[in-house]
Amino acid sequence: MSILTGYRSRKMRRCVLCKRPAIGASGICVSCVERLPKTPDNTRIIEGVDRLVSAFEYKEPLRTLIHAFKDDKLRSAAKFLARAMARLDDFPADCVLVGVPLHEQRLKERGFCQTDVLCAELSKITGRQWIKTALERNRYTPPQSRLTTDDRMHNLDDAFYAHGVKGLHAILVDDVVSTGSTLRECALTLKAAGAAKVYALTACAAVNE
Ligand SMILES: [Zn+2]
Repeated sequence: MSILTGYRSRKMRRCVLCKRPAIGASGICVSCVERLPKTPDNTRIIEGVDRLVSAFEYKEPLRTLIHAFKDDKLRSAAKFLARAMARLDDFPADCVLVGVPLHEQRLKERGFCQTDVLCAELSKITGRQWIKTALERNRYTPPQSRLTTDDRMHNLDDAFYAHGVKGLHAILVDDVVSTGSTLRECALTLKAAGAAKVYALTACAAVNE
């Protein structure tokens, strides 16, 4: 079954990548979905994360697509991104979903939290429980991509707060993993608060050349 199955739309939409007619409200066409770059391997090690699985490699045309998704022009992308992620979800059955949280300030700027949207879709597809309040942001942190390597090192120190996760088996959900520092910080925070296992499932992974 295609990850584009079940999309419906009353009016014709165009593919965000090639401008040809899209499948229903998905915002993408069949040929573009087929050329999305799959993650070549899922063997990356991140401290605190028991295993990381990513559906796609974060390069074009995925970059354009993820940007459109985050800008809310293509929120419907969450559905097929989540389907691609769910296909690779071979984590233990008792795992719950925990999204990497956005800070309130960013939430205000953006209007929605992309990991919330992904978690909601994943929960629908996999039947896994989504614990929305497990992880929160303590303070505003500038995006890692806007910082120098040195500043990135401490940007996320104590940035997150976890509660109600004792003994929990969690799957951290994020749209993109790049340096891995956000997942690392979230996983270590969850484990410090008592989580027993922390896996991570992301839509995309930036692969270092
Ligand atoms: Zn297309």
